[in-house]
Amino acid sequence: MVEWFRKFAAWFNLFPCPICKVGEGEGVNRFCPECRKELHRIPAPHCRGCGGELDGVLAVCSKCLAAPARPWVGAASVFEYRDLARKVLHDFKFHNFPELARPLGELAAEVMREENFHADLVVPVPLHYTRLFLRSYNQAGLFAAVTAKNLGIPFADALKRVKRGRRQSSLNRTERHRNPAGAFAVRHPERIAGKQILLVDDIFTTGATLTAAANALLKAGSGPVFVLTAARTPRYSR
Ligand SMILES: [Zn+2]
Ligand SMILES: [Zn+2]
Repeated sequence: MVEWFRKFAAWFNLFPCPICKVGEGEGVNRFCPECRKELHRIPAPHCRGCGGELDGVLAVCSKCLAAPARPWVGAASVFEYRDLARKVLHDFKFHNFPELARPLGELAAEVMREENFHADLVVPVPLHYTRLFLRSYNQAGLFAAVTAKNLGIPFADALKRVKRGRRQSSLNRTERHRNPAGAFAVRHPERIAGKQILLVDDIFTTGATLTAAANALLKAGSGPVFVLTAARTPRYSR
């Protein structure tokens, strides 16, 4: 952006922080420093299993040590799913607030640049079409597309759902494991063959949905998969 336009925009606060609407974002549509402070960003290195914060000397956190093995080579999550991040992602998901994809995608790209994973393709976890219809947009898809753009990596909506699972947020932990979010199929296997995939979803809870999605990609012949989420729930509870 040219300098005079940046000054002009700052003067009139044309691009206020998308969260508080008062603070000044750093550049177009970014979170202001105050909101950033409240958005518990997860520091690198991330837990290889869930992308959350590490709580020991191992490459996986204590929660993931107790969880079943994951099919991916690594994971990263941008925020802890609590306080302001929880509110922001809830708005993003349910309140038709797609403009949040931009700052979220920029931060996610920042996180991925610190990770030692070269992705050839960014793939979102798809929403079942009936939910897509009700919600009007797939927040994970939008988040993934903006992240891909910021990283300069191609984006492909390569996965589709073939069986509808019960809404994950309406289930408890045991039910979530029993109901692994349906099954996924790959649209054009030749497009993902041998490619290193960055698989993107909005929230990491148990990892059951991401496991099903990653397994579908690997079964269809993809290269290693890395999982990126906007937020990681601090506990398995709701
Ligand atoms: Zn703000
Ligand atoms: Zn973990």
